[in-house]
Amino acid sequence: MSGQKRIALIAHDRKKDDLADWVEAHKAVLAGHVIICTATTGGRIMEKVPSLTVKTTKSGPLGGDQQIGGMIAEGDIDLLIFFTDPLSPHPHDVDVKALTRLATVYDVPMANSPATANLIVASGFLDQ
Ligand code: PGA
Repeated sequence: MSGQKRIALIAHDRKKDDLADWVEAHKAVLAGHVIICTATTGGRIMEKVPSLTVKTTKSGPLGGDQQIGGMIAEGDIDLLIFFTDPLSPHPHDVDVKALTRLATVYDVPMANSPATANLIVASGFLDQ
């Protein structure tokens, strides 16, 4: 399908429910694209939206964030939705820095919050 995008979805800690809610709200548009998630995030999304096909990497703490970083470096990700949890202690700091850096290096659009993710969906980028 032309225009199909490869979309990585990752959420940390208490943001997993926010991302699952966001996916449910946009499931119609997301269904036309390839969805790749870290393992726990993907499991949560599949519970919430069973109709959506989701590929998973390893869990983030076991390297899943870095696997998605590698996919960005290979040109295999078109959009990164990455809901970090700014109110949690910061065991994820190194993963956040690494993934943010690679998304910036390769100029991959990235949203860290529902409002920004909504703007990307509304921009028409997913249909181009
Ligand atoms: P998870 O990975 O979806 O497997 O929890 C994300 C993370 O915590 O880095």
